[in-house]
Amino acid sequence: MKAALMRAQREALVVEEVDLAEPGAGEVAVRLVATGVCHTDKAAWRGNRELKVPMVLGHEGAGIVEAVGPAVTSVAPGDHVVLAAIARCGRCEACVRGEPWLCGPAGTTIFDGTMLDGTTRLSQGGRPVYHFFSQSSFAERAVVPEGAAVRVRSDVPLERVATLACGVATGLGAVFNAAKVPIGASVAVIGCGGVGASVIAGADIAHAGMIVGIDVAEDKLAYARTLGATHTVNAAEEDAVERVRALSGGGIEIGFECVGGARTMAQLVAMLRPAGNGFIVGAAPPGTTFPFPTDGFIRNKHLHGVLLGNVRPSIDIPRYVELYAKGRLPLDRLVTRTYGLEGINDALAAMETSAGRGVVVFA
Ligand SMILES: [Zn+2]
Ligand SMILES: [Zn+2]
Repeated sequence: MKAALMRAQREALVVEEVDLAEPGAGEVAVRLVATGVCHTDKAAWRGNRELKVPMVLGHEGAGIVEAVGPAVTSVAPGDHVVLAAIARCGRCEACVRGEPWLCGPAGTTIFDGTMLDGTTRLSQGGRPVYHFFSQSSFAERAVVPEGAAVRVRSDVPLERVATLACGVATGLGAVFNAAKVPIGASVAVIGCGGVGASVIAGADIAHAGMIVGIDVAEDKLAYARTLGATHTVNAAEEDAVERVRALSGGGIEIGFECVGGARTMAQLVAMLRPAGNGFIVGAAPPGTTFPFPTDGFIRNKHLHGVLLGNVRPSIDIPRYVELYAKGRLPLDRLVTRTYGLEGINDALAAMETSAGRGVVVFA
């Protein structure tokens, strides 16, 4: 099969033939129909941490089950599936207590390059090719753990719902699972890229009141307004904290940081009203720190970490698909660009400068 191979970090991906082994016990083989292209792919390619190479990136796949390994019970060949970025094991403490986004074994496979059993299914010329998120969806086919394969209704386009594997689900989950945004609440969203746009769309579905979108790119702010932002702030032109405080009459109730930067995290805390809740959704480079002024504690401000939207894939992804099917979730507008696999480098290059999310669609 064809896959976009990362031979070295920061070098252009190359589309080549690679081999994919049969699914092992508890694994599922999927023919990819589409895959989203996520900032975590870009950060990995850029080298924010060292990864084993050659590797196939990609962790927002959607496709059709071709075969299942021994002991697989939840999906069967022919099922349409979204491949959740975190492949819950179902047995660790986090999974048992209902927080599968913190699954220990799945967490280690994100960057380790292997499947849950520590081996690879990908190879080229008999040499191992490493996995990403135990998924590697920048390829025509993938073998994934059963816990990643979430069956969805077959009458929705997989190239639309692929982004529910990670990016869009991260934004929606931050709103519905982490923040539980109440009706009428005032909300600020720092960063209106793919995830931030999804937070705005989710806050609109949740009937938030004021929704303030903050970015430094005017086209992303215009895009945010089409998704439900009631106000926008260009942080390149004015002080975002002062502006949000003024708009909200002293501070925002709920804020989301979707950039993954120390400066924007400090801004998040500063723009909260007393007893407000801030959610850090963006993934900062490893080791990033930011100052948290102690008067935030005395004013009862709360700061929460969010991982992949705190999404329970097998429950939440089908719910988001239903929202899309009912016309409530604007996935058609959240996906703004499509590419073939040969266009994967263009898809990665377009991420910073383009609003919305890019998706690779397989022929
Ligand atoms: Zn992602
Ligand atoms: Zn687990």
